[in-house]
Amino acid sequence: MNQNKHSELNETDLKFLKRCLELAQEAFEAGDEPFGSILVSGNGRILAEERNRVNEINILYHPEIELAKWAVENLNAEERKNAVMYTSGEHCPMCAAAHGWAGIGGLVYLSSAKQLFEWRSEVNSTDTPIRFYPVEEIISNINLKGPANGELLNKIKELQLKSAERKNK
Ligand SMILES: [Zn+2]
Repeated sequence: MNQNKHSELNETDLKFLKRCLELAQEAFEAGDEPFGSILVSGNGRILAEERNRVNEINILYHPEIELAKWAVENLNAEERKNAVMYTSGEHCPMCAAAHGWAGIGGLVYLSSAKQLFEWRSEVNSTDTPIRFYPVEEIISNINLKGPANGELLNKIKELQLKSAERKNK
């Protein structure tokens, strides 16, 4: 995947991604998968937060599709266009499609789906019922940033590996 065309993450992005990481940690501790996402308005206010609840609610309960639904129900088209979704892991195709249909203008992810696949390969945990594609192959017009690097990326990797190992048991 060509990461160079993505713009650089700034301090504000890192602050919001840190919140996503906290939600991912919370999900993991609750027995769900470690994914967390937030929706931020055009003027930088957190509008909604969600985390993975695939054990708690059902297998389709990914935070990104839930936030896309929230946006459709609570924001007008202009507000959705100005909003940015921050997420601990790049969307799966289901969530990418929901994000695209909802017309949410921006997306910032902490780790890419490709990175997640590579991490899971390290612990032989790569079975998924669907194929993954970079979000820009699914969403036509998206203002995209990610992945991050350094400390935040290491932390989500560590959490994803713990989760994969838990599932392998
Ligand atoms: Zn998803």
